[in-house]
Amino acid sequence: MKNIDKEEKISFAQAFKMNWRAFGIIYRKRPQMIASRLIASIWDVLTPYAEIWLSARIIDELAGDRDPARLKFLVILTLAVTAASALISAFIRKWRDVQDTSFWFAVDRIFIEKKASLDYADLDNPKTHELIAAMETIGSYAGGGFARVVFCFDTFFQQIFSIAGGIALTVSLFTSKTGENAASALTETPWIAVVAACVMGALIAVSSVLNNKSGAIWAKNAKAHVLGNRFFWHFGWLGWDDEAAADIRIYNQQRFCGKYIANKESAFESKGLYAKLSKYPIGVYSALSTGLSVLFSAAVNAYICIKAVSGAFGVGMVTQYTASTMRVFSGIGMLIEFYGDIKNNAAYLKLDFQLIDMKSSLQKGTRGVEPPRKESGGIEFKNVSFKYPGTDDYVLKNVSIKFRPGSRLAAVGMNGSGKTTFIKLLCRLYDPTEGEILYNGVNIKEYDYGEYMRMFAVVFQDFYITKFKLGENVSSGPITDREKVEKCLESAGFADKLAEYEKGIDTYMGKIYDPDGVECSGGEAQKIAIARALYKDAPFIILDEPTASLDPIAEADIYSKFNDIAKGKSAIYISHRLSSCKFCDEIAVFHEGQIIQHGSHDELLSDEDGKYRQLWYAQAQYYQK
Ligand code: ADP
Repeated sequence: MKNIDKEEKISFAQAFKMNWRAFGIIYRKRPQMIASRLIASIWDVLTPYAEIWLSARIIDELAGDRDPARLKFLVILTLAVTAASALISAFIRKWRDVQDTSFWFAVDRIFIEKKASLDYADLDNPKTHELIAAMETIGSYAGGGFARVVFCFDTFFQQIFSIAGGIALTVSLFTSKTGENAASALTETPWIAVVAACVMGALIAVSSVLNNKSGAIWAKNAKAHVLGNRFFWHFGWLGWDDEAAADIRIYNQQRFCGKYIANKESAFESKGLYAKLSKYPIGVYSALSTGLSVLFSAAVNAYICIKAVSGAFGVGMVTQYTASTMRVFSGIGMLIEFYGDIKNNAAYLKLDFQLIDMKSSLQKGTRGVEPPRKESGGIEFKNVSFKYPGTDDYVLKNVSIKFRPGSRLAAVGMNGSGKTTFIKLLCRLYDPTEGEILYNGVNIKEYDYGEYMRMFAVVFQDFYITKFKLGENVSSGPITDREKVEKCLESAGFADKLAEYEKGIDTYMGKIYDPDGVECSGGEAQKIAIARALYKDAPFIILDEPTASLDPIAEADIYSKFNDIAKGKSAIYISHRLSSCKFCDEIAVFHEGQIIQHGSHDELLSDEDGKYRQLWYAQAQYYQK
């Protein structure tokens, strides 16, 4: 992944390409939404011209002949056109609003889907978190990124039509012939019209360029507050996270934020970078830009008035020219801003595309997964070594072990000896740094990833139970087989608790979705996690410290059921409590990233100098005391 701090200059062509690509992605997701927005925008800019033109005709008639029949016709026409355009506008806007309800969801979904499909290893990488935080915080804070693309292209098409409509009504301002009076001397040469048009154009161009400059400063410095935003979001969320609520209150953890609030130079504070930039240069550019557009209005009005005084046109045309020139030049200004917007937005899109273009580093094969073969089959680790991404130390070193299908393996060892990492490699959450893992004699990288993953049901130590319904947690999705859900909960020792729930497996976990939801103890949650693994009914069941939160009775219950639970399956069982491993066929002793002993309980215990015997007696002594 590229370093997001690295600044590269982006040309307009590159910026346009990026914006267009983003526009295309949104268009493919929601073509109707884009079409409705464009049609509504174009309709909105064109309809006022009809009213401007008709009003000018009425004023001309009032200031001129005052023919009642013509006036009546013009008034009726104006009313009819206004009513028809209001009706059509309402219809188009309704269509756009309906389509727009899913605007933010359509934009967010692009990233939600991408984030959910990232490699597990990438989630461990601080660079990924930094990138996502940068995208989310600076993108949404400054309104940049995919959403802005839609607004940019709305503006572009809107202004093209606005300028075309305006020019059609304005051209005669510069070409109309003056009358015979003093003011006409000023306007009779065609060069005056050219100079007037140029001055107006220059004023609006400079004003828009200054506005772009102030926008560019925002975009360029947006990264300065990424870290501040990350902390802000993290603690802002924790403040009402029910799982952290007790700790926050007991330890008064609000103080974490104190150092950012106390530091007046931090991103959001009064002496921070943004406060300084807002005064200068952003403030100065914005003020100059506004000042110049006021000057522009003055210049336009002066020119129109001089021509009117010189007798080139009547009072009705004055209103038409004033309104339409303003629209033409504001259209030009908006197009110049579009140019700047496209460039500024590219700075945000660059981050978005860094995420979208992130490739999976896991090799994903196409080979179908067959059931474990009894003879040469099963799992084999061959000289596997592993370092976590971004770290220098090996946490597994030359691990070699064969694991026969249908057998039960216990992985024991001290904390940090590499047992969980061993499981994560087996389940392809990471790939080995060196060596290979074989399944049925074939490197696991060659198998279809989804199919391979379906072979494992794992209860990790830090399993996660969602706040959805109990049954949905067990089936990891909508409840389709209620009987199976209940049976798995029963096998996991949850039957008594389930009987207490009025809504049974439809009971919500926690109260955030339903006031009748239940709060589970650590042990109960662990049983739900075990039931979920059973429900998956995979050929390999892996339990990583599955009884750590269980009381001794529940623990004994799970052990006694373990044979049933793992019947016909291959099972791997990680535990500190060696007494609970006795029933396994094989035991692998992990120590400092290596498997230092491998055999049955009796074999390992008979090795007088072995680690297993040492651990066994240390624990036995502990329990005897
Ligand atoms: P065990 O399951 O035996 O307690 P682990 O496999 O969890 O051990 O951890 C082995 C080593 O790997 C430990 O030193 C641990 O700190 C380190 N480790 C675990 N997860 C990560 C990670 N995501 N990034 C870096 N190091 C890790």
